[in-house]
Parts: sequence; C-alpha cells; structure tokens
Amino acid sequence: MQRGANSKTDPTLLKTLKSSFGFTAFRPNQEQIITAFLAGRDVFAALPTGGGKSLCYQFPALIRPGLTVVVSPLIALMKDQVDAARENGLAAAYLNSSLNPDAAREVRAQLSAGAIKLLYVSPERLAAPEFRAALRSYGAGAFAVDEAHCVSEWGHEFRPDYRTLLNLRTEFPQAPIAAFTATATQEVQRDIVTQLGLHDPVVVRASFDRPELLYRVARKHSPAEQVLQFVCERPGDPGIVYRSTRKSSEQTAEILRRHGVSALAYHAGLDDELRNRVQEAFVRDEVQVVVATIAFGMGIDKSNVRWILHGDLPRSLEGYYQETGRAGRDGEPADALLLWGPQDIAIIRRHIAHMTVEAERAGAEKRLREVLAYVGSGVCRRQLLLAHFNEEHSGNCGGCDVCNGEVDTEDLTVPAQKLLSAAARTGEVFGAHHLVDVVTGAVTERVLERGHDKLPTFGVGSDHDRSWWLSLAQDLEAAAYLTRRIGTNGRPAGLQLSPQARRLMRGNERFVSARRRPSAAGADGALSAARHAPAGSQVARTEQHSAERLANAGAAAAPTLHRADQAALFQCLRSVRKRVAAERGVPPYVVFSDKSLKVMAMNRPSTPAAFLRCHGVGERKLESYGAHFLAAIQSFLASGECAER
Ligand code: ADP
Ligand code: ZN
Repeated sequence: MQRGANSKTDPTLLKTLKSSFGFTAFRPNQEQIITAFLAGRDVFAALPTGGGKSLCYQFPALIRPGLTVVVSPLIALMKDQVDAARENGLAAAYLNSSLNPDAAREVRAQLSAGAIKLLYVSPERLAAPEFRAALRSYGAGAFAVDEAHCVSEWGHEFRPDYRTLLNLRTEFPQAPIAAFTATATQEVQRDIVTQLGLHDPVVVRASFDRPELLYRVARKHSPAEQVLQFVCERPGDPGIVYRSTRKSSEQTAEILRRHGVSALAYHAGLDDELRNRVQEAFVRDEVQVVVATIAFGMGIDKSNVRWILHGDLPRSLEGYYQETGRAGRDGEPADALLLWGPQDIAIIRRHIAHMTVEAERAGAEKRLREVLAYVGSGVCRRQLLLAHFNEEHSGNCGGCDVCNGEVDTEDLTVPAQKLLSAAARTGEVFGAHHLVDVVTGAVTERVLERGHDKLPTFGVGSDHDRSWWLSLAQDLEAAAYLTRRIGTNGRPAGLQLSPQARRLMRGNERFVSARRRPSAAGADGALSAARHAPAGSQVARTEQHSAERLANAGAAAAPTLHRADQAALFQCLRSVRKRVAAERGVPPYVVFSDKSLKVMAMNRPSTPAAFLRCHGVGERKLESYGAHFLAAIQSFLASGECAER
C-alpha cells in the first residue's frame, strides 16, 4: 500500500481528519472517494475489509451541509457505528426495527430539527415510500450504500430490499450516491452500478491486498493441540477459530476453556439470543476467542482481531479471503493460519457428491480445486489469493510462509509415480496406509494375503520412511491425483487414479509440491515454523506500515522503553480501554484501536498536547479519555506496574 503521498492533499481536509478522526493521513483511495462524493458525484468503491470505508462517508457527512443517509443491512452493527461516529463528534443516529417507539420518535424529532448529520437506516426502511418522503423533508442530500453487493444476485448475500434503492436515484435526483462493497468481481460491480442507477460514477477499485496479514498453511495432525498451542502463543490477543461443524466448534472451545483460555462457541445451533451474547462479548473484549462455524464474523465490526485460525479446509478462496479479512482491520499485523488434512477433502467431496444440480456441483468442484492449489502448490499465498480477484502480485510478498522460506518445494515426480503405480497395480481399492506398506516393503498380513509382496513396486520406496510416504499420499490427494472412492455404504473405499495421475505416470507431467521442512516436533513441523518465523517476516511487514506509524506517532522521539515494558504498558492500556468502554457502554475498539494504544505505549505522552499527537486521538477523544489514559501512563511510569485490574 502506498501511503503518505499527501503532498497534494487539501490542507483543510487534513486538518479536519486530524481534529475529528485523529488521523494524520488518508488511506489509499479515501481522499479520492471523499472529494468526489463531496463534489456531488456518484461513486462506486470496492475496498477490502479494513480499507477504511466508514471514513469515506463519515468525513463528507461532517463537512456537507444537511443530512447524509447511510444504508446498511447490518442492523446489529448500527448502534456501534453510531457510537463510534459520536465519539468523533459527528451527530449520528440510526433508525431500524431494533429501536423502541420512543427512541425512534426522539430521533425523528432531532431529524426534523436538523440536529443530525449522519443517519443509518436499514434497506427495509427505505423500501417504504413514506419514509423516503420523510427523508426529503429532513433534507437528505447524500446517500451512502454500504455492503452494496447485497443488490446483486451474483453476490452471496442478495437482499431483495436493496432492489428498491433504485428509487433513490429518481426521487433524489440532486443527491450523490456512493456505493461501497468488499466484493470485487466485475459482475457485482456492473450489477451495483445498474441496480442503484448510479450516474457516471467515479469508480474506485482498491487493491485487495492486505499487507498486514501473514498467511500460513499447515498440516493438521492433532487439531486440538495445534489450536491450543497457537492460541497460547498469543496471550490475550482476540481471534477467531473457524471450524466446519457445530460439534467441532463446541469441542474446540471446550478444550481452550479447559486450558484457561476464555473461549465461546458460535454456530447455527445456538438460539439468536445466545449468539448475540457471544458476539457482544467478543466485540467488547470480554471473551478472547470465538470458535465459530462460518456464520460468524459477517456483521462484526471489531478492528483489533489479531488472528484467524481455520481448523478445517475452507470451501472457497473467496470465503477464506473474507474470513481472514476480519483480522487486522486496524492495519496492525495479524496472523492467518489454515490447518488442513485429507479428511477435510473427503468431507467436502462427499458433500459435493450429494449435489444434484450439475452447475452447482461443477462450481463446488472448481472452488475446491482452487483451495487445494492454495494449500498445496508452493506458490506465494498472497499471489494466489489476489489472483482470485484478478489482481496480480509478483515477487516476494514477505508476508506468507512460502515467501518467508518456511515451505520448501521439491520435484517429487519419481516417488509420486511409485506411489501411483502401487495404487494402479493393487486395483485402486486400497487406502494410503496399504499403498505405503507396499512401496516401503512392509510385510503385513494384508500384503502377504494379497500377494502384494510380489509386485514390482514392492519395497521400491525404502529410501523414505512411512510418514514421509503418507504425507506424499496426502499431497497427491490434495492435488487431485488421487481421489477417494466412496463405497455404497458411504464410507471411503480406496484411492483411485485421476486422468491427471495417468499423465504423471506416463511422465507427461511433473509433480512439484510444497513440503514442510522436517523438524524435531515431528509431523511436519508446521507449528514450530509458525513459532520461529515472525522474526524476519514481521520486520518486512512492519516496514510497510512505518509511514503511517511515523506520521501518526508525531511526538519527538522519546527514549524508548524497554520492549517488555512497552508491551506491559500496552496490556495495561488495554485494561484501561476495557474499563472505560464498559463505563460508557461502547465496544473497546470504539474508544481506541490497538494501534492507538501501541503508539501511546511507545510515546508515553504526559501532556494533553502529546496525547493529541497519538494516532487516533482527535479533540473529542482527548476530552473524553485523555485524563484516564494519561493517568494510567503516569502511574505505570512511576511504579513500573499497571494500576488497572
Ligand atoms: P471497513 O469498513 O472498510 O472494513 P473501517 O471503516 O472499519 O473499515 O476502518 C478500519 C480501521 O481503519 C478502523 O479502525 C479505522 O479507524 C481505521 N482507519 C480508517 N481510516 C484511517 C486513516 N486514514 N488512517 C488511519 N486509520 C484509519
Ligand atoms: Zn508470499
């Protein structure tokens, strides 16, 4: 991401950005969107999650005379968004079905009095002609449509109510409409422009690269332990574990709790109220980990999620991208680890086999192949993810296990041919274990019984051990050379060769695979790699943010605290944030982002002026929170301890 190219930025805009939002520079594309929207142009903006969409309509709403209306389907989020806007001194309110009649009447009164600058509404509201008439009388002069892909049947979240938004263009001919989405395909873009009737819109497509995310993939050998170890290496860091079933999400949460980690499960089997409570607890930093099936995270606006761990193979790269995108929205480094094993492939394949609509099945197959290429190919993860959004990325990304040298690639054509040949010669009805017995020359009962010790492939692979061959079998399955045959009883009935495998056996194709370096930790050493890697990679990634960081740190360089102390002060400020947020009834990230707290821990401001120079501190936040945080910093520096408990 390019930042800091603000030489052309209008100084009055920058002044407002600092005084109201506490930021010293626009993110890429923000200024272009804001300027166009303020100039009365329609806008189409595709920005990745965490790209800073809210600012793109909150900022103009602050400056523009009259009312700006934000359409959002995420009713559960409106209150938090309004709270956040108010924390920055923007007169914001919302109207949706969750509001009781008295509260709604109050909002309407304020609207009539012209006391509201930014109004969040649900699309159902706007579908009612009377409501649109009311908006005219309140002087609505601009519209922002959030989650605009909901207008498109191509998107995965089509909402019929969004189709009525076309009325806005005709009924408010003078009001500019800005559409925002994090779904980047061209079909969706075309649909949004047409369905909202955008007139000659300024089209802004941001890069979907998320440089703050570090992508890693590892083999799943004992998921419970792997998840536990990963979480324990990140004490206190909020994160989401995704599992594919209710049962595994319950179990994983239970194991984490047993080891003293605060964790809750979230899945479709829980009733609405409980689900809301889990979500709320997570947003408010009251629970560190949510172990969820895919339903979770959609409507979650929590910028300090530090990691996402997938405990099972995702079903599509798009889904994986969106799920991992929920971490690091504050732009601070965050980890995405994907654990997978061949049993995941079998489950997905079984699911696909049950699909009756041919097109649906073909689509699911294609998505699975893309996911398998992602986990198995030894190509930069970021490159593969971005390729999915038609975005090119080349060179070392410095933020994935492949680029960081944690993954070796090897030409395994010859051993692959040996294993495939064992499958072919034994009739394509055996599983990996038996095939490995054959190639390694293990004299088992079954081998003798079937006479497989007489095969030419028997013992040809004694140069590697069993686990090496088993993992090769997994790779071959991942890359779709071997497929699992499902018996009439629905159980696996051996590995079968694909047409691609036959090409490989004939020598018309090569098999290059990503292989983990062997390590003392056994299995494949993925976790030990995860533990040791950050040193080098983190530095590179941190560099990318240093421009913003330096710009926002502002203060004259104070002698740096010892890093451990800085970390302790950061933890202390986190506790202060949690208390203050609870007192005000808002989520902690609304008070300050992790980045703001880090900058505070680094700069250790002792005066209001120095506090104001920290990232994310505007005048309003100085006034609301300055005293709390300054006192905490002071006392930490005096005693070396956190007074907060
Ligand atoms: P999105 O809605 O696109 O996912 P948000 O609007 O929630 O993203 O913004 C993500 C985070 O980035 C928020 O914590 C926000 O305060 C922060 N942010 C937005 N714009 C800037 C900026 N110009 N400088 C620094 N941080 C920013
Ligand atoms: Zn990479």
